[in-house]
This record gives sequence, C-alpha cells and structure tokens, in this order.
Amino acid sequence: MSVCDKSALEISEMLAAGQISSVEVTQAYLDRIATVDPGIHAYLHICPETALTQARQADERRAQGDGVTAVTGVPIALKDNICARGLRTTCASRMLENFRPPYDATVTARLRNAGAVILGKTNLDEFAMGSSTENSGFGPTLNPWDTERIPGGSSGGSGAAVAAALAPWALGSDTGGSIRQPAAHCGVVGLKPTYGRVSRYGLVAYGSSLDQIGPMTIDVKDAALLLNVIAGHDPMDSTSHDVPTPDFLEGIDGGVAGMRIGMPKEYFTEGMDPEVEQTVHAAIAALKNLGAEVHEISLPHTRYAIAAYYVSATAEASSNLARYDGVQYGEREPDCKNIIEMYTKTRARFGDEVKRRIMLGTYALSAGFYDAYYLKSLKVRTLIQKDFLNAFESVDLIAAPVTPTPAFRLGENTDDPLSMYLADVFTVSLNLAGYAGVSVPCGFSSNHLPIGLQLISPAFEEARLLRAAYAYEATAGFKGLRPVR
Ligand code: GLN
Repeated sequence: MSVCDKSALEISEMLAAGQISSVEVTQAYLDRIATVDPGIHAYLHICPETALTQARQADERRAQGDGVTAVTGVPIALKDNICARGLRTTCASRMLENFRPPYDATVTARLRNAGAVILGKTNLDEFAMGSSTENSGFGPTLNPWDTERIPGGSSGGSGAAVAAALAPWALGSDTGGSIRQPAAHCGVVGLKPTYGRVSRYGLVAYGSSLDQIGPMTIDVKDAALLLNVIAGHDPMDSTSHDVPTPDFLEGIDGGVAGMRIGMPKEYFTEGMDPEVEQTVHAAIAALKNLGAEVHEISLPHTRYAIAAYYVSATAEASSNLARYDGVQYGEREPDCKNIIEMYTKTRARFGDEVKRRIMLGTYALSAGFYDAYYLKSLKVRTLIQKDFLNAFESVDLIAAPVTPTPAFRLGENTDDPLSMYLADVFTVSLNLAGYAGVSVPCGFSSNHLPIGLQLISPAFEEARLLRAAYAYEATAGFKGLRPVR
C-alpha cells in the first residue's frame, strides 16, 4: 500500500511516529501526479519546487520539535480560486491566466503557518460558475470513477484529486453546492461550513454572500481536522463570525443516539434518479438503526430556490467581476487603439458561461428590473431561511440527497444551461440560508458511480454535523474507497 492511499490523519500519524518524512510523502504525491494526473486533469498547476521546499522545512520543524501541528508536513491541494502568494491563481479563467497573487488567502496562510505543503492548484469551472468543470478555460477534469463523466463542479479538480489519491485532501469553495456536489460525484467527503465560519479573504469572489471555503477529504475525520486548521474569526473578512472554534475532532465519535433527523419531503421528488433515491433512503435508515429518530419535515419554499439562487448569485457575480477590465485587474489585451477597444477585447477573455451570468446579473440589477428580480430573490431567500429555522425547531439535523442523479456524461448538459442549473436543486438552498452541510459517500449506482448523502445542520453546529457523518461513515462501509487506477 502506497502512502498515497492513506488519509491525511494517517499521514500525520506516520510523520509524527517518524515512519516517513514529509519530503518522502510529498515526492510520492508528485510522482503519482506526474503519472496519473494527465488522464484526470485535476490540477491546473503543480508546484514541485515550492512543495519540496515546504516539505524540507516541515521535516526540520519536526526534527527540532518546534511549532509542530497535526498538519505539519502533510501535503494539500488548493482550488485555483484560493490565493497563494507567488503561485498562479487563475480561477480557470483566461482573464487571470498569469495572475500570481502577492498575498496569501487567510486559509492558505493558516495552512502554511501550520506547516502544510501545497502540492498545487486544482481545476474548477471558470470563476467557480458551473457544476461540472466543463466551464474551465483550460479543459475539464475527468471523473476518476469513469473518465467519460464529469467530476462535478465547480470544485471538480479538488474532488477528483482526492478520489484519485493525487492529494490526501484539498480545499474547495461552495457558493451553491460546489464542494458537496463534486464530493458526491467523486465519492469523497465535502463540507460546506456555515457562512462566516471560514474566512473568505483571498478567495476570489463569485457570490460574496454565498461563498464559503471548506474541506474535501477521503473521510470525515480528515474533514474535521482540516476545518480545525482553516476555521476562525478573521478581521480581514468582515463577514467572518467572531465565534469560538471548537476542536471538531473532539467528541466526533459521540454517535447519533437520540438525534432527531428531518427528511424534507421536497427533496425526494418525482423525477429524481431511483437509484439515488433508494441509496439515500437506505442511508437514512442506517442512521435510524444507529439510534437517530427520523421525522418527515417540509421545507416548503424549496421549489423557488434555484430561481432565487441564480438571480442572487449572478447579480453578485456581475458586480464582483466588473473589476476585470484590464486596468487594475485582469489580463489586459495589448495593442488596442483606444480604451473602449481595450475594455471590449479584455472582457472577451471571459468564457461563455461567465459572460452569460454577467449579463443575467446585470439585467437583474438594472434600474427597471431590480425590484422584480434582485429584490424578489432576496425576499425568497428570507423565506428559505425561515423554512430551515422552522425545521430546526423540531429536528437537530436534516438528511437529503446531494444531487438528483449520479455524475452525468461530459457534454451531456453543456448545450442546455438550464438543465445544468437544475442539477443544483438540492444544494443551493443551504447557501441561501447560510447553514452548514456535508456530503458523505453512501453507495454506488449500478454502473458504479458514487452517490452522496447530504446532512445539514443549523448555523455553527458543524461539530454535530460531523458527529452524525462520522457515525454513518463508520458503519456504512463506503469509507476511504478510491477508484483503482
Ligand atoms: N453550480 C452552482 C453554480 O454554477 C454552484 C457553484 C458554486 O458553488 N461555486 O453557480
């Protein structure tokens, strides 16, 4: 068994026991990336030199026993919309093709301070807009379970990297499902923390009121450990909450006995894939066997979520992306005759989906339509938040599917943006409400594609969420499975 088959926590323990050095672990991943990643394209950029330097520093730190943490010397991959000083951060966009940020995102700084080793930056849908990585400006990522299929998105590179053992773990970002959906499609664990739990400073903005960075890992304990490193108040992000950060590993094995779990009837709708429905039902039955109480609940405004999300998210995106005009931000087109030509040619670097969203969002915010669209979406958002608040009066957690179908084929939804948007039907509500959610592997379709169980908690109850996810994972039999390649 290669070190690349281990979880991050196992690698941490091996490093602590002196069984392996960080340089050896890092080199093992770099070698595996060099042979396997050309067939997956999980990474946009690999950073062998800086990774090995960080690994050597981590080994010295361990040798000196100086400031050693659980992640010192453990490699990680970062989604390429998370800034890392000196490393290319492109957001999979031609617009930022050569951007090397002069600063670290807070999560990156926290990882570096803890001694983690950055292997590289993973692929995504351009500016995190999409559900398949097919919107990447640099070609899609392939699902390691079936390379004719999408890995999900937008954090498809991070999901595929963890599934294919090209990194022990990775960070993703989730605006409307971009951690949970690729985690489900790649058979890994993906945690979207509560809005405000993890700093967004240095995360390139898509929908600022929805975006949240979170772990994508091979098992639930790794997700808890990584959340321990990245969570916490940050004065550089005014929306980061000043709440205490518990140790998310502590009490993770507390079980679900007596926990009240709600099954929203709107999430088990006609038209969803029967295998997904059966598999998620079976997972919820397993939680019941472990001692949880299962209740049917209603989140009545669910059917408006996709519409409200795609208005709010695109409105925020149109504003956030206005900065890429080739003046202060963005790759300026050279040799233009005048400023209009320069703006026009520079903005043409965006891909079709990004342009579509800028137009949709600009329309929703324009003077005559603001009330009809943007303001309305905010009102719906409040109703969706209230649905969750009401539900959490009678249950501790909510259980649901992550996606209506297993991973679809490359190209299957690219000509029909609406069908692509509809794939987000079970994930966007959570971002509109701001709560935390996790996707845990819960089985396979008959053609051997992973299926995810989604668990949702009230704000800042990630410890409870991880406890339930861990209890399920421990008995379900799908922990740590990776496609053989
Ligand atoms: N698929 C959704 C979208 O395209 C969510 C993306 C995300 O969470 N970044 O907007």
